[in-house]
Amino acid sequence: MTRVWPLPELQYRPLTDIDEPRDVALVYSRAAWDAVASQLTSLRVAWSAEPGAAIETEWRRLADECEGEVVVSVGGGLATDAAKYIASTRGLPLVCIPTALSVDAFFTWASGVRRDGCVHYIPTKPPDRVVVDFEVIRGAPPSVRAAGIGDVLSIATGSWDWRYAHERGLNPEDAPYDSSADRIAATLLAAALECADAAGAGDEEGLRRLIDCLALEVQLCNLLGHSRPEEGSEHYFAYSAESILGHGLPHGDLVGPGILIMAGVQGQDTRPLRDALVACHTPLDTIPPDVLERTLRGLPEYCRRHELPHGIAHDVTHEMGRRGLDCL
Ligand SMILES: [Zn+2]
Repeated sequence: MTRVWPLPELQYRPLTDIDEPRDVALVYSRAAWDAVASQLTSLRVAWSAEPGAAIETEWRRLADECEGEVVVSVGGGLATDAAKYIASTRGLPLVCIPTALSVDAFFTWASGVRRDGCVHYIPTKPPDRVVVDFEVIRGAPPSVRAAGIGDVLSIATGSWDWRYAHERGLNPEDAPYDSSADRIAATLLAAALECADAAGAGDEEGLRRLIDCLALEVQLCNLLGHSRPEEGSEHYFAYSAESILGHGLPHGDLVGPGILIMAGVQGQDTRPLRDALVACHTPLDTIPPDVLERTLRGLPEYCRRHELPHGIAHDVTHEMGRRGLDCL
């Protein structure tokens, strides 16, 4: 049997209108909860937790402790991934309330956990419902408000890697190159570049189009059964940089620089990508220069050690790395 995961139901509505009669197990990040708690006073919170890290043993403990009839997450990637884990472990329905469009995790069926210095995706479940209040998103800190655009712009480098591996016969059997899917992904990339200014400005139409792009990117990967069109060397760079830093940064802070550096390594024109990231206020300077250098130097070995699908990151030389850094 081949199973294709669905997207969550999406509701665009003011958070004050949420009508949730069930007892809620709330999974949140502090800043997000503080921003919207006054609009969610109707929720009957039976239990709540703020996950501290993307570590499976911690999430399992939360799943054991959790009480309620529905899991509700309020926050970004970490809260969402933990909530997906808890809901799937306990067989509970899941409602996600993003306070910023910071990642594609609101639409995916897997949760990223940190293990041995890399990110592993474990199957959990897609949220049953995602509730978006554009007023709330508009009010989010600009650096995370539309940072999820990185998970669509990563098509530029991820798809390049997919073709690169194909030309060398290095794609695994379960992720063969598919030129039609590649063209669909390219169209989504173009749509993301087009909406970047409006989404970055917090304009509702732009934010909505960014959601379209994220949802379609996730659905394309769901249909293919893998993430090759949107996940490649830019994400490997992000995972490796995070392991060197020893602590997390917002996903966009890691993937954004990863896209520009890796697109530069690949010899692509990075200007449209840079313009879109800047328009969406993605911080491009939070990774210290020495960590950038170390990440690039160790990247081929890192990719092999973690058996990541083949991309330019496996073959980056000192010279290529310099070219990439010049594009940041
Ligand atoms: Zn990502």
